[in-house]
Amino acid sequence: MPPNLLGNRDLIRDINRSNVLNTIKMYGPLGRAEIARRTGLSPATITGITAELIGKNLVLEKSPGDSSGGRPPIMLALNPSGGFVIGIKLTENSAIAALTDLEATVIAKSTTALSGNKPAQVVQDLNQVVNSLVESSGVPKKQLLGVGIGLAGIVDSARGILRQSPISGWQDVPLRDLLKRKLRVMTTIENDVNTLTLAEKYFGSGQGVDHFLVVTVGRGVGLGIVMNGRFYHGAGGGAGEFGHTVIDPLGPACACGKHGCLETFVADPGLVRMANESAGRGELAHPVTDVCELLALANAGDAAAQAIFGRAGRILGQSVVNLIALFNPQKIIFSGEGTRAGDFLFKPMCAAIEELALPRLLQDAKIQIDPWGDDAWARGAASLVLRELFEPPVLSAPGLLNP
Ligand SMILES: [Zn+2]
Repeated sequence: MPPNLLGNRDLIRDINRSNVLNTIKMYGPLGRAEIARRTGLSPATITGITAELIGKNLVLEKSPGDSSGGRPPIMLALNPSGGFVIGIKLTENSAIAALTDLEATVIAKSTTALSGNKPAQVVQDLNQVVNSLVESSGVPKKQLLGVGIGLAGIVDSARGILRQSPISGWQDVPLRDLLKRKLRVMTTIENDVNTLTLAEKYFGSGQGVDHFLVVTVGRGVGLGIVMNGRFYHGAGGGAGEFGHTVIDPLGPACACGKHGCLETFVADPGLVRMANESAGRGELAHPVTDVCELLALANAGDAAAQAIFGRAGRILGQSVVNLIALFNPQKIIFSGEGTRAGDFLFKPMCAAIEELALPRLLQDAKIQIDPWGDDAWARGAASLVLRELFEPPVLSAPGLLNP
């Protein structure tokens, strides 16, 4: 057979394999006949692929299921312990890591201070983080399928290059390949908001939703976009810089060098700035150093503190109305540390959305505010590697299913 046809045949097999694995993950335990029905593949193809997945320990046979007469079918289910991955959220001074199973359940986690912020130092630190996490979890290193890194900034994930990071000041750093050479395991990097979006798509409330957005609030304001069941990255990986959409060109200076971006009104540094301006006018009880202090004042009934969150919520709501008009999403999920502000932020946001969004589009869009967990970022980065299992056609990536 000519090599290109052979390549196509392998690709089709990879696609079918991902399709079967994803079907078992989403709807399992399932019998082989049901898998054939759901995937549209022939029973012979299902027999071959499931034998391979069982051989690789990714799928388990379970006790027989119900049957309408005749011999009950053997049920197949994802084996959560068939492999493990590590996700790391990299900030300018720390690495927050989690080791998870194939269902993104966290088995072990750690937070490590970085010894410096030059790429070579960070790579060295991450190598130690990975090794000590594998050791403490008791998982054999050969069962580690890969390491996913999530970090703020513009990331070209296909080429593994961190193009621009607002935190470390790095530009055009080939971080994936630097890490891969050190870790000797499949490695992938992605913008941190996109990793959270991935976790929603494969393991959270984005499962089975074709058009959804994830808005993160906290240190910045981010946006993950899934349309037609696929990620939207933009031409250079920079799509979703929602925090730098312009609210007021004459507004406060933003970390990006421009003025009046959404972040300057909604993200943590903007809230602290507004709080201290308010304290300067004698409205807020006292100046604050971070958003936790501002939230404590709001919780204690300080009307000026509540008004600061309220204004931020209204401005966020107006911007979300623009997202609804642009994308017509089925769902908008709010996540990130900033969700801890709760009703102080989201009640005014929802009121602004109700008031300003086109009613027909608003009918389609479910607003959901996720409870925040500290390991969510790291779990998101782990999903970056897990995606390789469930999304075709990358199963042929070296070191993963075809070592
Ligand atoms: Zn900006």
